[in-house]
Amino acid sequence: MPLRFDNAFLRELPGDPVAGPGTRQVHGAAWSRVMPTPVPAPRLVAHSAEVAALLGLEPWEVADPGFAAVFGGNALLEGMDPWAANYGGHQFGHWAGQLGDGRAISLGEALAADGSRHELQLKGAGRTPYSRGADGRAVLRSSIREFICSEAMHHLGVPTTRALSLVATGEAVVRDMLYDGHPRPEPGAIVCRVAPSFIRFGSFELPASRGDTGLLRALAGFCIWRDFPWLAGDRAGAPLARLHAEGAFDEALFAAWFHEVCVRTARLVGHWMRVGFVHGVLNTDNMSILGLTIDYGPYGWIDDYDPDWTPNTTDAQGRRYRFGWQPRVAHWNLARLAQALSPLFREAAPLQAGLDANAATWAECERDNACAKLGLEDCGDDDLALMRGLQALLHRAGADMTRFFRALAEVDVDAVAPSAEPLRGAFYDPGRHAAEADALDAWLRLYAARCRAGGLPREARAARMRAANPRFVPRNYLVQQAIDRAETGDEAGIGELLDVLRDPYGEQPGRDAYAALRPDWALDRAGCSMLSCSS
Ligand code: AMP
Ligand code: MG
Repeated sequence: MPLRFDNAFLRELPGDPVAGPGTRQVHGAAWSRVMPTPVPAPRLVAHSAEVAALLGLEPWEVADPGFAAVFGGNALLEGMDPWAANYGGHQFGHWAGQLGDGRAISLGEALAADGSRHELQLKGAGRTPYSRGADGRAVLRSSIREFICSEAMHHLGVPTTRALSLVATGEAVVRDMLYDGHPRPEPGAIVCRVAPSFIRFGSFELPASRGDTGLLRALAGFCIWRDFPWLAGDRAGAPLARLHAEGAFDEALFAAWFHEVCVRTARLVGHWMRVGFVHGVLNTDNMSILGLTIDYGPYGWIDDYDPDWTPNTTDAQGRRYRFGWQPRVAHWNLARLAQALSPLFREAAPLQAGLDANAATWAECERDNACAKLGLEDCGDDDLALMRGLQALLHRAGADMTRFFRALAEVDVDAVAPSAEPLRGAFYDPGRHAAEADALDAWLRLYAARCRAGGLPREARAARMRAANPRFVPRNYLVQQAIDRAETGDEAGIGELLDVLRDPYGEQPGRDAYAALRPDWALDRAGCSMLSCSS
């Protein structure tokens, strides 16, 4: 395989002098060298043709048994030099100390022909110094979930880590899926995920928590140099050591960088709120410095609109990570990052300015979402109120978020009292629907009046809505169906679902089944509505 590697993270940052997987606290180091633990029978189950192409891999190279060996952790390509990253994090609001890559092992940073950088990371590749008593493995069901959803997010236009491959290991992994005292062996798998950087908020929090300002500064400088080079202006592309020697990493540069992280994070959450994605575990170790969706665990998709819904059973009590709280949780997480970065600043003002920019950007995104989802040219305060009124209505009526907004483009807004007929297929409960029918008609009258007064022409409005309101999202039950089939030996469902999700905003006639309401059986089925962190 013609991959070229430049492992800057290892080269430029201090590492752990000890190699191998022994569990330990690792001080003064950003990474530990550790080899993937070989698996009995690596076999390629699925791959993303788009990511392979991004890396310059030919189809025959992916089909070669050598590919499954490498991306199952049994072989290395020249230039690969595996490591696990060291980081900490706040979990469910509490500082959790050192976490690190407990089952993720990075193989290397691949450079594509166009110069772009793609870190290749195996999730489930075996124990590392950060495994803390766990086995370092991942099961097939959670690997299918990450593989499908991360690629689907990309096609939806949501910033995300990608997935190159899904490899079955041929090894059983024991999990107690519902944490109810019923552990059972499940098929194991490894996803190779791909991103320009896997640095997390928690990567900065750990050295800060230990008073290690030297490592903190080195990591922040490295992150700017590698992941945000344009911030260095004229000096972009200069060697990192020279930037340090010239004192390039001053407060102004750190401030610009933090500002950028805050803005990107707001935009990321803006996308989640637009498409109905609930991350489920927004701990600071699961927050990407690049503003990517990262660490697909007990995530979920909104079916019936409910801002208080969380897919994560571990979070059922406090519902900290509920859909509607994601903007404020992201802001809270950024405040933890600001605290961690504070030793790099003499004053708090630049950090506060970043946090304020996060809030302001989210407010803009909320407006933009309202505007695009309703098909308006521009969005004023009244329009935001119109959207909020609709959201409250959808919640009360138990309407399906995806189906409702998609169908809203079909409503005839030239009528003074538009018919709600196109929206009929967006409701789960006839009783709740009927109870809100008058409210819906009243809302449609307001909406139609707004569209007629300075709105877009009919076709332009519908096109704008169809570009913002997907017809196809990886609803939990759809992914679970692919998992059920795969666990009984029929893996074709993974590729079939991914193929639909390649064009989430298209009509794709004949594929209505993938855009249907959630079936009732999925309501109380594990994997569809109840997800634990057990993966
Ligand atoms: P997560 O909830 O997936 O973000 O994981 C939190 C921490 O637990 C991270 O440090 C993970 O690498 C680690 N972890 C989760 N599952 C495992 C596992 N099966 N083996 C080792 N470490 C794990
Ligand atoms: Mg994580």
